[in-house]
Amino acid sequence: MTLRWPGSSHPEDDFEAWIAQRHQERVLDGSTTPTDPCPDEPFLKGLARKSKQIALSDPRVHHAANCPTCMRRLLALRPAYEARRRRLVLTAAVACCCLIFAAFVVLARRGAETPRQIANMAPIQQTVDLWNAGTLRNGQPSPLQSVTLPAALVKVTIILPHFSESGQYDVAVTRDQAGHDLLAHGSATATGNGDREEVSVNLDLRNSRPGSYFLSTTHEQNQASYYYPLQIR
Ligand SMILES: [Zn+2]
Repeated sequence: MTLRWPGSSHPEDDFEAWIAQRHQERVLDGSTTPTDPCPDEPFLKGLARKSKQIALSDPRVHHAANCPTCMRRLLALRPAYEARRRRLVLTAAVACCCLIFAAFVVLARRGAETPRQIANMAPIQQTVDLWNAGTLRNGQPSPLQSVTLPAALVKVTIILPHFSESGQYDVAVTRDQAGHDLLAHGSATATGNGDREEVSVNLDLRNSRPGSYFLSTTHEQNQASYYYPLQIR
């Protein structure tokens, strides 16, 4: 026979559970009393936790299923194993919840990063004022002002120095003052009214390491280049 225990979680087992229940009642009533000796406690414990090492063809299983003494012992043992099984299920469920929670945290962080990455794609607006660069003060040239730009995609608007010509300008970021190691460059036509000229270019400094560089402006027609110390932070 197949051993089934009441309270099965599978609806399709309900009928068999009902038969098992009726059988159990008959056994406990003493309607069936096997003559062979009762199996030992380890065997009954193994049966109570449905150990896979016990073959249902084992005559001791048949005995335990029909002996009121063994049946009572089995019924007494089962709650302990059921409780342990429930604890295992609960532990597994908690571990699963922790995993799901961890996954949510990771996804939430990724979600938070995405707008920042998108923001990084939009150029950061920076204005560099070179209006007073290179002008004479008390007969001395003013010290070159240092420009600071972030290591990002930057839309830089340069207010060109006094008396700058209109026309096309090339703006570059280089490692040194000789124009070596070009990091980024862009060219645009200067816009302005009167004598104040501005030029706006996109400079991709995302792969630049923080440090000291030079920002240069080159007028495309007269090829005059001016270098200004630049800090990338
Ligand atoms: Zn027995």
